[in-house]
Amino acid sequence: MTKQTQLGKSGIYINPIGLGTNAVGGHNLYPNLDEEAGKDLVRTAIKNGVNFIDTAYLYGPGRSEELVGEAIKETGKRDDLIVATKGSVKFVNGEMQHDNTPSFLKQEVENSLKRMQTDYIDLYYIHYPDGVTPGYEAVGALKELKDQGKIRAIGLSNFSLDQLKEANKDGYVDVYQGEYNLIQRSAEKELLPYTAEQNISFIPFFPLASGLLAGKYNKDMKFNDLRANMPHLQGEEFEKNLEKVEQLREIANAKQAEVAHIVLAWYLTRDSIDAVIPGAKNADQVLNNLKTLDVQLTENEIAKIDSIFK
Ligand code: NAP
Repeated sequence: MTKQTQLGKSGIYINPIGLGTNAVGGHNLYPNLDEEAGKDLVRTAIKNGVNFIDTAYLYGPGRSEELVGEAIKETGKRDDLIVATKGSVKFVNGEMQHDNTPSFLKQEVENSLKRMQTDYIDLYYIHYPDGVTPGYEAVGALKELKDQGKIRAIGLSNFSLDQLKEANKDGYVDVYQGEYNLIQRSAEKELLPYTAEQNISFIPFFPLASGLLAGKYNKDMKFNDLRANMPHLQGEEFEKNLEKVEQLREIANAKQAEVAHIVLAWYLTRDSIDAVIPGAKNADQVLNNLKTLDVQLTENEIAKIDSIFK
């Protein structure tokens, strides 16, 4: 992997094809996950040049961080990797809540360090706003951890534009992670321009629209996991989206590429998107997504892909 990009203004460089690991030990999101397949896909990613790995306490909860940590340890490449995790989540009587208070975030960073068997986290995100703690106070707590060397960069996820602006009052935010893909493009209105202007990297989650944009689904697919409640994968909307995927396939075929590759390459042409973190269920998908690096989209193709999903 050649071209590296900088995470915001952090001075940290990453390869543009990263790895999302909510299906590595994320038993609360996907039933019947095979933990060995999960560890194997993380090791495969690392051995093949992926250096940006995304996890969170929520996935498991805690189990994804543990498995990712074990896999990293086994490769012996911790210091070559940029490991991102997220916190804010707590479970009260089985119900998920969010807490952005400085004391909670500091404790959660300690817990993540233990679960991942490491002594620093390259990028720590506040996973969700709690709606109470002023964002700049929460970010201030992460800035203290950064000054202590426990984390190297500060991220926010799922904050609205106003919440992000408030939290970034002192300019400490390096990375923003939000939902963005060809089907869900609302971030284009305000979040992408703001992050570009502020030199904050925008890392899109659900880049493959939870698998739809990998181009292998058909209208008879039934989902029994978190995808069962996603409108873009149900009924008429699903069928319309599948038709659009067929239009992508024509563009991909003409370049001897696959749908997933031109989709991931397209995101990397957006202003503040410095990397993508497609998730995977097995090592083959990880290797397949790395072929994105061979794809060079022309201006005409970029515009065509844009217009299919306008
Ligand atoms: P995604 O990247 O849009 O889709 C991943 C799914 O697509 C895989 O699980 C796999 O599902 C399919 N896939 C991937 N590569 C493929 C390939 N080459 N060929 C065929 N199928 C392929 O969705 P995601 O994993 O949920 O999102 C990416 C990452 O973003 C997550 O792993 C997580 O780290 C992060 N995330 C963050 C938040 C947040 O709140 N900050 C929210 C969601 C996700 P199947 O094999 O089942 O089809």
